[in-house]
Amino acid sequence: MDIDEHNDEIRSCTRCRLSENRTQAVPNQGDPDADVMLVGKMVGYADDDVGLPYQGEAGNILDHVLENAGVTRDDVFLTNLTRCYPPESRNPRTDELDRCASYFERELDIVDPDVIVALGKLVAERLLGRDVSVEEEHGTRHTYNTLTYRGEVFVTYNVGAATYEAELRDVIADDIAAALGSV
Ligand code: SF4
Repeated sequence: MDIDEHNDEIRSCTRCRLSENRTQAVPNQGDPDADVMLVGKMVGYADDDVGLPYQGEAGNILDHVLENAGVTRDDVFLTNLTRCYPPESRNPRTDELDRCASYFERELDIVDPDVIVALGKLVAERLLGRDVSVEEEHGTRHTYNTLTYRGEVFVTYNVGAATYEAELRDVIADDIAAALGSV
């Protein structure tokens, strides 16, 4: 399956309750041959409206971070563990993450990135399968193997956190620059 067929399947997905309130599903964005995949936990309010991940203020911060590292969205692959906007921006629930997980697994097969950047605690814990303190572990890299994928996970903060904690912008920028510099 190629990325367009994959994205079409996501756009029509009704596997979980998050399909009931969305304006549209938001599959992913960027280069399906990218070396670096950035993974968030969920679709945001503005993403739901536009149909692309990381819009609004968090998206502006991410674009600035990428620009400072010398790349754009077109040079990386942006995705989320869930693809439909949760009511009132609540966190995705475990059963919703479980039902959406096969889309992420398929993206690992299609993109086959060298490095995955886990944007925030929920994503890092989901990928690494253990408790993660982002305060203590941001900027660190970890082996990440599944049955069909071998690579590394870099841990950093959720970009959304930098919309209300401005000092995190430089931290996230340094972490993402390190991940980009490792490939
Ligand atoms: S969040 Fe994922 S599993 Fe749930 S409806 Fe959207 S695409 Fe399907």
